[in-house]
This record gives sequence, C-alpha cells and structure tokens, in this order.
Amino acid sequence: MADLDPLFTAAKTAMEKAHAKYSDFPVGAAILTKDGRIFSGANIEVISFPEGWCAETTAISHFVMAGGGEITDICVIAEKKDICTPCGGCRQRLAEFAPAEAKVHLCTMEGIVQTVTMADLLPHGFESDVLAKTN
Ligand SMILES: [Zn+2]
Repeated sequence: MADLDPLFTAAKTAMEKAHAKYSDFPVGAAILTKDGRIFSGANIEVISFPEGWCAETTAISHFVMAGGGEITDICVIAEKKDICTPCGGCRQRLAEFAPAEAKVHLCTMEGIVQTVTMADLLPHGFESDVLAKTN
C-alpha cells in the first residue's frame, strides 16, 4: 500500500497536532480525493467537553473549505488505540461526503492494518434522499 503512505503520514502528522488535553487521547484523520488532494485533521477538545470535536470532523472541514471533491480514501489513527474506528457521529458526517465504496483505512502507529468501506461502517445510514422523499 505504498501509494497510501502520504495519507497515513498526513493522518499521523495531524494527530501530533491534536488538542486533546482533557482526554489525552489524540486522534488524526486524513481524507484523500480522487485528484490526489489530502485533507487532514485532529481532535480538538475544549473545557466544556461536549463542544469539542473529532479528527474526522476537522478533516471534513478542511475538505469542504477547499471546495470538496470525490473522496476515495480515509485514514484514521489514534496513538493509544490500534484500529481506532470513527465514532458514530463521524460515520454519519463522513457519509455525507464520501461514497459508500470509499475505503476507510484503520491503523496502528506503524501503518495501515485494516481497510473497510463506508458501507461497512455505516450500514443503513440516514441518507439525504430520505428528505427528498418526504416532500
Ligand atoms: Zn467522531
């Protein structure tokens, strides 16, 4: 998976920038688009705990602010947990922008060790066409 090295490195580098002073559980995420762009992010916590957000959310924000694109791969890494999967909320956020076949790469500190798809992570997700059917 040599071609995914830059994505893994971006996620790991982002994790090092996490503002996780309360949980001490830094997480990094990186999104790869079909045209080769990478957007990364880390979890950012605030003293009012519910107001913090996840690494995937930071990466999605950078992706959206740069104009978006077609997501092909997502990488998530946590220093203190091998194979750290996106939380439920982030699965829904990622599914807003990533197709069901997008690959989600799960890691240890050494590299990618497991790959699943968005469909694997969020079966029967709440999809935008549901709202169209109610009108
Ligand atoms: Zn999350």
